Order: sequence, then C-alpha cells, then structure tokens
Amino acid sequence: MKVRLVAHTPAPELVVARAARTCYSHLDLGSLPFGGDPAAASRLISRLLDSGHLSPLEHAVFTFAVSDVSRVTLAQLTRHRLASYSVESQRQVPVGPSSYVEPPSLLRVPGARELFSAQVRSAIDCYRRLVELGVRREDARYCLPQAVTTSLFLTLNARELLLVASQRLCRRAQWEIRRLVHLMVREASRVAPALMARAGPPCLKEGVCPEGRFSCGRLDELRRAGAAGGPRQGGGGGDGRPEVGSGA
Ligand SMILES: Cc1cc2nc3c(=O)[nH]c(=O)nc-3n(C[C@H](O)[C@H](O)[C@H](O)COP(=O)(O)OP(=O)(O)OC[C@H]3O[C@@H](n4cnc5c(N)ncnc54)[C@H](O)[C@@H]3O)c2cc1C
Repeated sequence: MKVRLVAHTPAPELVVARAARTCYSHLDLGSLPFGGDPAAASRLISRLLDSGHLSPLEHAVFTFAVSDVSRVTLAQLTRHRLASYSVESQRQVPVGPSSYVEPPSLLRVPGARELFSAQVRSAIDCYRRLVELGVRREDARYCLPQAVTTSLFLTLNARELLLVASQRLCRRAQWEIRRLVHLMVREASRVAPALMARAGPPCLKEGVCPEGRFSCGRLDELRRAGAAGGPRQGGGGGDGRPEVGSGA
C-alpha cells in the first residue's frame, strides 16, 4: 500500500484559523493581507476541537494518491460520502497476475496462505484467459476476487478526515483500512499537525466507546491504567499508529 499527500490547501491551519476568526470579527477579513501566527492558529484550532465548532475545518482540503489497496478496502473507504474519489477503472486497466493483497492473518494459520494464493491466482488466470478469448475486460472481471488491488485519488476536508479517522482507527475497523487511514493522517499531519492532533478512535480522543457490547475493551484498559482519553488527551493511539492485524 502506498499513500501520498499530493495536494492540500496552502497553509491549511492559517486558513482554518482565519475562517474561525471570521465568525467572531467585524473586520473585513477579505481585504486584509493573508497571514498569521502559526502558533496562534494551532491554539485556536485546539479550542475549536474542544468546543466542537468544526465547520471552519472544512476549509482545509487534502488530496491523496493511494495505490495497492484491495477492492475490499475500496468498498469500505467509499462509504465515506463526503470525500471525492477517482478510481482506476477495471474496465480499462488490466489486472496483473500478482495484483492482489494478502491479509497478514493468513500467515498465522498453517496452510492458509497457500490455499488463498492458489485460489486468487487461479481466478486472475481465468480472467486473463477470458480476455484472451475475446471477452471484454468489463465482463471478464466478474470472476475476480475482492483481494485484487486498485489505485485511487481522494480528496476530503479536515473535518471529514477526522471523522474517517475516528471510525477507521478504531480497533473494530479492519486492518487494511486502518493502515490506510493511519498513513493518510500521518501525511496530513506533516502539513497540519494541530488539525490532525485529535485524529484517533473515540476511546483515545474522547474517553468514550460507541461500540457497546462489540467494544474491544481498550477503553476499560485505559481507565484501569488511568489513561482514558479526553478532549485534550486524544491523538490516535499515541502516535496514531493502528495495531495492524488486530482489527475485526
Ligand atoms: C467498524 C465498522 C464496521 C462497519 N460495518 C458495516 C456493515 O456491516 N454494513 C454496512 O453497511 N456498513 C458498515 N460500516 C460502514 C458505516 O455504516 C458507514 O457507512 C461508514 O462508516 C461511513 O460513515 P458515515 O456515514 O458517518 O460517514 P460519511 O459518509 O463520511 O458522512 C460523514 C457524516 O456526514 C453526515 N451525512 C453524510 N451523508 C448523510 C446523509 N445522507 N444524511 C444525513 N447525514 C449525512 C453524517 O453525519 C455522517 O456521519 C462499518 C463501519 C465501520 C467503521
């Protein structure tokens, strides 16, 4: 999997801070020269996150190039409707013999990896032979498994990225999308550290778990350790890194 931040709002945190100040100022901010103190912008962003005044975050937008993710993860990612997507077309682009994702958990089950790769390779070979016989790619692809890889561009704003991170950095989310969102947050943090400082699951970010009986138990562990998250303590697993492979 590769994730690259290819474009973003210039000075995203200054833009968000300026947008937020507009709400509270009678000055004609449009006519003032654009600029500002990055440290003051960070403090203001922290207050916005504390208070739940999140609409100014929508003015900071990030575009990512993502490659080598499975169609499983594509389906999960595109459930996030406030992002924009451009996805490699399986009608146009041929699927290569080793263009598939192998879940790491296969390695923990004796014989699973061999069984899995034989099945996936056979399906991709079937696809190739159908195309050779003259079947259009768009129809030959019906024999392909969800493990085959794809590439995409996606654009979303900081508010939506925080929401995606809150849902997909949770241990209940699957390992591949957790890894993807972790990398997206890491990339965005390079240019917008204050905006991304609270990216993480609700247990770490807010000290709550919405999963009910499906909870992984991390919030209880954090409470026992006296480290349950709160509005000022979040941060996506300390460094925001998901525990890859432990997802549901
Ligand atoms: C661990 C996990 C397991 C999941 N399992 C399943 C499953 O088994 N089956 C399944 O179908 N899905 C499943 N999902 C997907 C989930 O139901 C959501 O579709 C997905 O997470 C997107 O969330 P969202 O709608 O909040 O986000 P987005 O689409 O990114 O929307 C962002 C926010 O905008 C608002 N919004 C967007 N569109 C509307 C609208 N039309 N009307 C009102 N408000 C809107 C909402 O406040 C929403 O939270 C799972 C997700 C996770 C994280």
